[in-house]
Amino acid sequence: MSFDSLGLSAPLLKAVSKKGYTKPSTIQQKAIPLVLEGRDVLASAQTGTGKTAGFTLPILQILSQTKQLHRRPIRALVLTPTRELAAQIYENVREYSEFIDFRSAVIFGGVNQNPQIRAIKGGLDLLVATPGRLLDLHNQGEISLANIEILVLDEADRMLDMGFLHDIKKIMALLPNKRQNLLFSATFSKDIKKLANTILHNPVLVEA
Ligand code: AMP
Repeated sequence: MSFDSLGLSAPLLKAVSKKGYTKPSTIQQKAIPLVLEGRDVLASAQTGTGKTAGFTLPILQILSQTKQLHRRPIRALVLTPTRELAAQIYENVREYSEFIDFRSAVIFGGVNQNPQIRAIKGGLDLLVATPGRLLDLHNQGEISLANIEILVLDEADRMLDMGFLHDIKKIMALLPNKRQNLLFSATFSKDIKKLANTILHNPVLVEA
């Protein structure tokens, strides 16, 4: 299977080809068409499987097909447990969106919040965030989550291990009910299944 057959637009294919990828990974082959169809996806995938492109590419495609250029509310939210992972996902988003008109930013704890607030101010299409900093900035009135159309929980098992369940629940309460949800996890404990049940609607199960 080639990237061309996955239903991605030319500017996204150009970015993929610039990265040097020749063939979509298993998780990309399975997840990309489902996300483009608007389905909720529950994916079992470790780091190294290409999962980041598996959710990022279709999200970029969906959001760039329905632009909101004038008022740029945050329409996609990627929640991730650590600042390293957040920075890595953001870097990927930047690379894959190089040839489309797209704005993204990343926020995480442990660093000064002011540059992050400035990055959000001009309007964004997608935000990558760790849960604690996201709630902090939301509570300060710096972030609105009222227009989120697509939510990604990446490394959901690690988020639970790190004690983010309460924060995740608080964040869910701030999002519109009607949205697309993607949950990625390397392992599927009882707690992850419970979380998946409360967040995902009629999900398709996908394995890397
Ligand atoms: P991830 O699992 O998303 O952290 O990706 C793991 C690594 O694989 C990253 O360095 C990606 O740049 C790379 N990668 C993702 N998709 C592909 C692909 N289709 N072909 C080759 N490398 C890829």
